[in-house]
Amino acid sequence: MDFNLTEAQKALQKKAREFAIREVLPVARKYDESEEFPIPVLKRAWEEGLLNLGIPEKYGGPGYGILDSCIIVEEISSACPGMATSIFDNNLGSEPIVIGGNEEQKQRILGELINEFKLIAFATSEPTMGSDVAGMKCKAEKDGDEYILNGAKFWVTNGGFADYVTVFATVDPEKKHKGIAAFIVDTKTDGVKLGKHIPKLGQRASNTVAVALKNVRIPKENVLAKPGRGFVLAMQTFAHTRPAIGAFATGCARSAMEYAIDYANKREAFGRPIGNYQVIQEKIANMFKDIEAARLLTHRAAWEADQGIDNNMSSAVAKAFASDVAMNVTTEAIQIYGGYGYLRTRPVEKLFRDAKLYQIYEGTSEIQRIVISRFAMKRYEHAMPNVFKQDR
Ligand SMILES: Cc1cc2nc3c(=O)[nH]c(=O)nc-3n(C[C@H](O)[C@H](O)[C@H](O)COP(=O)(O)OP(=O)(O)OC[C@H]3O[C@@H](n4cnc5c(N)ncnc54)[C@H](O)[C@@H]3O)c2cc1C
Repeated sequence: MDFNLTEAQKALQKKAREFAIREVLPVARKYDESEEFPIPVLKRAWEEGLLNLGIPEKYGGPGYGILDSCIIVEEISSACPGMATSIFDNNLGSEPIVIGGNEEQKQRILGELINEFKLIAFATSEPTMGSDVAGMKCKAEKDGDEYILNGAKFWVTNGGFADYVTVFATVDPEKKHKGIAAFIVDTKTDGVKLGKHIPKLGQRASNTVAVALKNVRIPKENVLAKPGRGFVLAMQTFAHTRPAIGAFATGCARSAMEYAIDYANKREAFGRPIGNYQVIQEKIANMFKDIEAARLLTHRAAWEADQGIDNNMSSAVAKAFASDVAMNVTTEAIQIYGGYGYLRTRPVEKLFRDAKLYQIYEGTSEIQRIVISRFAMKRYEHAMPNVFKQDR
């Protein structure tokens, strides 16, 4: 076992950190205030090879592993969680093609994302469902070799500016997961309507919209997964992208802790820096240990995915744990700042608002706990004999 990053991973971390400090951090507050979509930053990320992290080298991409991607996104999220979400969204949108696309689709779409600055979004959620993916209602009707899509998708990150959306839709809502198929939707297709930006509590630099689909004809070559296969593809995608949410949360928490340390060393109360008080030191110690644990769990979930090991459980653990850490650490960082922490002008206020999203998107914290408890109660192998079968 080796917990060290490889030399290549250290170089990636350095590159991503420099990008985050140079391109993201200086404009983080500006985009949070204006809620504009940070196209120039995304373009810079594309130019530097940081936009389509998971596209294999065979299709012109950098071919980073999931652990590599986690190392990169922790750095970008440290500067601005909202921009990190926007930058990583091309991974979420393209991952179903990387996993389930045919050779022609991979050459065409993945190649295009590498050669041109294009955005691809991901859409399972709808106005009436998010957690219950099998309960989607957006309709896919077969017409010869083609499909016709009708319905609405909601919460589509980057959707307002996307060139493509990987859309999950059902041939029959009664069939639940067995009816779900997946499609590559070119947003220029007749009948696709991209909604207006939906204002949010945090992560305001990420664009969130509804996408309406009215008689949208999907040619045969853009059918990504046949009915029944779409649900599995969505779950496989989440297993690959959830570690990155753990890394986002770790980065967000890390910055909140760093701001809190700087403040604790400087701010004086009762004639001494507040960092001299044990109650503040304890808060910093808790932040530090929780961030370390969040990163380790995240890296393990990512490593498992890279090894081809089923990481459904480890990615649920990492995502749930790291999301809670981000929420707790940002809350405590505000506490350390006292009244100033509550001001819009202080960075910890923004990180606190940004952190909340981690407990919601890509499977809420409750859904992760369902995954974990199912494993713990049904599949986990006990080390000790069953308490009811032990001789007394
Ligand atoms: C900013 C933002 C960006 C997003 N981006 C995308 C995107 O790009 N693509 C996309 O497809 N989706 C996206 N989503 C949607 C996101 O994945 C969903 O919001 C999330 O899965 C929760 O679904 P919901 O909002 O419908 O809540 P619901 O599923 O209605 O859940 C409401 C509450 O009930 C709880 N709950 C639900 N079922 C159970 C259960 N069985 N047991 C216990 N508790 C339960 C939930 O945990 C939650 O607390 C985004 C959401 C946000 C807020």
